[in-house]
Amino acid sequence: MALSQQRQEKTQQNLFLENELTPHYAVANEVMELFAPSNSLVATEAKMAVETDVLIDNFLNAVNTNSSIEFSSLIETFADSQVPTNPADFDSYLEYLASNVINHSIHTSSPRFIGHMTSALPCFVRPLAKLMTAMNQNVVKIETAKAFSPYERQALAMIHRLIYNFSDEFYSEHVQNSQSTLGILVSGGTAANIIALWCARNKSLGAKNSFPGVEKAGLTAALDYYGYQGAVIIGSELMHFSFEKAADLLGIGTHSLIKIPTNRNNQVDLVALRQAVADCQSKNLHIIAIAGVAGTTDSGNIDSLSDIADIAEAANVHFHVDAAWGGPLIFSEQHRQKLAGIERADSVTIDGHKQLYLPMGIGMVFMREPHLASAIEKNASYTMRKGSFDLGKRALEGSRPGMALFLHAGLHLIGLKGYEFLIDAGIEKTQYMADCINAMPEFELLSEPDINLLLYRYIPQSLREVAVKKQLAESENKQINIFNERLQKSQRQAGRTFISRTTKRINCLDREISLTALRAVIANPLTTKDDIDAVLHDQIKIALDLEISDC
Ligand SMILES: *Cc1c(COP(=O)(O)O)cnc(C)c1O
Repeated sequence: MALSQQRQEKTQQNLFLENELTPHYAVANEVMELFAPSNSLVATEAKMAVETDVLIDNFLNAVNTNSSIEFSSLIETFADSQVPTNPADFDSYLEYLASNVINHSIHTSSPRFIGHMTSALPCFVRPLAKLMTAMNQNVVKIETAKAFSPYERQALAMIHRLIYNFSDEFYSEHVQNSQSTLGILVSGGTAANIIALWCARNKSLGAKNSFPGVEKAGLTAALDYYGYQGAVIIGSELMHFSFEKAADLLGIGTHSLIKIPTNRNNQVDLVALRQAVADCQSKNLHIIAIAGVAGTTDSGNIDSLSDIADIAEAANVHFHVDAAWGGPLIFSEQHRQKLAGIERADSVTIDGHKQLYLPMGIGMVFMREPHLASAIEKNASYTMRKGSFDLGKRALEGSRPGMALFLHAGLHLIGLKGYEFLIDAGIEKTQYMADCINAMPEFELLSEPDINLLLYRYIPQSLREVAVKKQLAESENKQINIFNERLQKSQRQAGRTFISRTTKRINCLDREISLTALRAVIANPLTTKDDIDAVLHDQIKIALDLEISDC
């Protein structure tokens, strides 16, 4: 008898046996069928897969970015809070999904959805997602993820090498050494930033003589022991809001996140940064870390990382680079010099689900010094034993999926050259968009793009002449702000194209004012120059309608 047939018969027997033992569960059979191995009851799963694939196909091929339903009516369809009593059948659930959820989901892969850091994904991730969930490895420990643990370490080491480029000997010593941590795979840039700063805090306020370290004694005792008045983290005012979460969680409070003003190119002001470091030192405040941003979330600008590295080195402070967005520039010959100095960072955050074109849920933090993460190591007796290979012992999260599959696959199926092409093409298209905006009287470019984000705004007809002469009064700027907010909301509601919105602070006659900016993120490989034209023309059309209705 063939093995699969044997197994199938055994499963069916089991199903009925189990059910005889629990006859009062009317649903037992139905539920057990859901757990049938894929070689029995194949037809059910195959049918589910075919039906789901149809929905995926429709979703991915949709042209509009958004459905036009008002959010307030959408939430009404999700008001019920009772768990359904009996199992529903898959077909009717899929119908429910299609009409209530998928129908009103955002087409992030649309080439005209160019306002956020989320875009189309390469096709291989969809079958691999199925493989990953089918295997259901838990990378927290070796006992539930044997091959996945070294596999993940290898993928992380590859990116570590692109950032730091240490010797062959360094990598052969550390890639698969359980004492070393070159990087940690997490759910996103937020968790990555938190871990980096957590390591920095624990390392800098560690055990010494009779003092057991901040990890065991807590922040108050640590500051007391080391004789500090408080602890801070310093970085640009454009730091991502995950730093606020980190400051809160690390016990220093968000008021101890020192935000340094930025220059016209949205880069941290180095004079002010040096001054802040000196101020903290003179006030006897412990600086846990100085953070540089490589690609601000708002406008994509990159801090002068080498200069920040100098400042951090002189102060003997941990240097963290948040390259969640801009990190993948390391793949580009042409653009990687914009990250110069990143190789001096003690820790670096990169998001795989942004410019590595991988599914949501892939953040990474890299450590220059392979033993830095020992500062956060925790052990447990049932597993995570000291000296074990378990990845969960030096991590924020516990159970987590084998997302490394996507990362490792991306590095192989797209490769260094493939990623270089994607990065270069995005930046080139962004320059094209900036040129278009500069050539169109309807728009004003608010800052030259460093990489593939740009900020601009629409100028209503009546104010164009004054705007060109740079003579807008504060009240006129306010009027333009209100108009751009309405424009962005109407565009989102119409759902043909999408651009996001942010604010940019500028100096206007010696006063700081904030401008409402339209924000384009050109990161979708499917976006063409025609799509960029279409987005801009859609905005002009919507703006004209608004202007006419105002008259
Ligand atoms: C996106 C982003 C983050 C946060 O990453 P998540 O993956 O959303 O948690 C942090 N910093 C920067 C610069 C980012 O662009």
